[in-house]
Amino acid sequence: MLERVTTRLPLSPTERSTPQRSANRAVAEREILDEVLDAGLVCHLAVTIDGAPLVLPTGYGRDGDTLYLHGSTGSASMRAGSAGVPVCVAVTLLDGIVYARSVFHHSVNYRSAVVHGRAVPVTDDEAKLRGLRVLTEHLAPGSWDYTRQPSRKELAATTLLAIDLTEASVKVRAGSPIDEPDDVGTHEGWAGVLPLRRIWGPPVSSDDLPAGIDAPEHVMRRPAPDPPC
Ligand SMILES: Cc1cc2nc3c(=O)[nH]c(=O)nc-3n(C[C@H](O)[C@H](O)[C@H](O)COP(=O)(O)OP(=O)(O)OC[C@H]3O[C@@H](n4cnc5c(N)ncnc54)[C@H](O)[C@@H]3O)c2cc1C
Repeated sequence: MLERVTTRLPLSPTERSTPQRSANRAVAEREILDEVLDAGLVCHLAVTIDGAPLVLPTGYGRDGDTLYLHGSTGSASMRAGSAGVPVCVAVTLLDGIVYARSVFHHSVNYRSAVVHGRAVPVTDDEAKLRGLRVLTEHLAPGSWDYTRQPSRKELAATTLLAIDLTEASVKVRAGSPIDEPDDVGTHEGWAGVLPLRRIWGPPVSSDDLPAGIDAPEHVMRRPAPDPPC
């Protein structure tokens, strides 16, 4: 069982990490940041390379107040992150589409997190294995102990970046459309929310899997990321 780091630091401590627009949707509790990051599966990593922004989807894992990202040592975004340039990471959970009585007030229900900071490459072997384990267990819980561990060559070919979660923000929108009072009184059509839920499908065995090997418990019984409400 992986022991979690328990250090707690303040959320959104800087001007750039403080939501300005629709600030009523900003959430100050660090526990909600944890929940959003733990419920998400992929993030978007933003870096600036040669003066131009680059945003790439990638996997991640959280250990206490550290976010881990990984990739090939040959990857441009990993190289940029390793060089200590500022990075920004976003995790988005789309919870539903909000159908308002006007086009203007159509919206989405969501939970989202934005993390600002500088990435630090993790080079110590023990720390790197721990971070990779956190990341693997986030995307594929149960796989670290079930599968072969990284070889020295595989470890050397992998960049692991650690990003401190001190400078982070969370926004949440939930509930009904917010319509103009005139529209509520005059529009005769439907308004409301169409919730979006994520569920896993049944496991599909690898094409080259010998007959008679079933998917293990941690794959078969994996809970849906969005439990029914
Ligand atoms: C799925 C989804 C769809 C959205 N669609 C729209 C849309 O179509 N139009 C629109 O105007 N807005 C949309 N938003 C909200 C959008 O993300 C911004 O919050 C909003 O546009 C305000 O942007 P801004 O540039 O004024 O940010 P500011 O409020 O100036 O941002 C300041 C800081 O607040 C934090 N912050 C801002 N937004 C978020 C966020 N969503 N989550 C966590 N931290 C945040 C960041 O740290 C940022 O640096 C959407 C959000 C989500 C999750």
